[in-house]
Amino acid sequence: MNNILEEAKALQGVIVKDRRYLHQNAELGMDLPKTTAYVLARLKEMGYDPKLITDSAIVALAGGKKPGKTFLIRADMDALPIAEENDLEYKSKTKNMHACGHDAHTAMLLGAAQLLKNHEDEIGGTVKLMFQPGEEQLAGAKAMIKAGVLENPKVDAAAMIHIFSGMPVPSGTLIVPEGGYITSSGDAFHIDIKGKGGHGSMPNKSVDPLNIASHIYIDLQDIIAREMAPDSTAVITVGQMHGGNAANIIPDTAFMEGSIRAFDSTEREFMKNRVVEIANSVASTFGATVNVEYTMECPSVYNNPGLYDQIVKINRELLGKDNIKGFDAVYPGGKMTGSEDFGYMSEKVPSIMMVLGGGSPEEGYPYPQHHPKINFNEDVFYLGSAVYANTAIEWLKINK
Ligand SMILES: [Zn+2]
Ligand SMILES: [Zn+2]
Repeated sequence: MNNILEEAKALQGVIVKDRRYLHQNAELGMDLPKTTAYVLARLKEMGYDPKLITDSAIVALAGGKKPGKTFLIRADMDALPIAEENDLEYKSKTKNMHACGHDAHTAMLLGAAQLLKNHEDEIGGTVKLMFQPGEEQLAGAKAMIKAGVLENPKVDAAAMIHIFSGMPVPSGTLIVPEGGYITSSGDAFHIDIKGKGGHGSMPNKSVDPLNIASHIYIDLQDIIAREMAPDSTAVITVGQMHGGNAANIIPDTAFMEGSIRAFDSTEREFMKNRVVEIANSVASTFGATVNVEYTMECPSVYNNPGLYDQIVKINRELLGKDNIKGFDAVYPGGKMTGSEDFGYMSEKVPSIMMVLGGGSPEEGYPYPQHHPKINFNEDVFYLGSAVYANTAIEWLKINK
């Protein structure tokens, strides 16, 4: 047993200070200038040589003195376009808010960076620290993979922690979802329909794109109703349909947009292809053309079953058996119908997503993620740092 937990506790004040700075200076999307500057400066202070591999995408390495594998630990750093409604001394000074707790993730990974530095000589291999932008747009992880985050040194396995508030578990509970697909994929489609406009009195001289949009809409519902297995969990929602501007004119064009969510990657691909096939075949039936584009895409997070077993064992030893729970402690069925762009990492290397309980309603944290009044129990942040650092060190020990 190591003393990482005690060391992490001693860093609690620093972790909270980092989190509050990031909270006050919340930034959005793929470009996080203040956040990036702060994280780079903190890492340099600790003796790291952090690299920017693309805009606001930071990688730093710990260890590497002893031969071994490479374990990646990831934090996201972006906030949301929400005006904070909390009355806090460290309330956001920008129009944005860290309402998903990514400020805490970044601060906890900085805490882990310090712990890893303290134990650098003992690391059997390399720990790669990944600080990413643009998680809320589901774009940052993909961009960092493209920029080479998984290479040089090549990453063998990866872990992330998300802090959740408003959850029915005590603060400080570590949730390790079991192996399998644990978040839903998130894909958004845009369908342009090109018909032939004309006078409302002469539909025979026109190709009505509104009629075609209606047929496509109904047929998309049938993917779920008639083509998916009864026990599969998947959603197709059309969120907008537009076309036309007068009662007696058949418009030339129309468009519709919608989203697809699934857990299983085969079902996801099936549905994505069927949207394209159905749109094209309906359009050709009625003599129109369509163009289907996916404007957003994100795979499900797949918790690797073998890695799950190791991570649970490692964290039981750190935190005690009773403080580790499965995903069903917070989500019935053990799956979350939200998306997390760590899914891209889990497609490439054995990965694990963990959740840290950051406040329950009974403890005075009633608000869910993305709420303008959400806050997190800062007292447990050091646990996140300890879990990040300890998971990496111990995994490298047992996977030489
Ligand atoms: Zn979020
Ligand atoms: Zn988040």
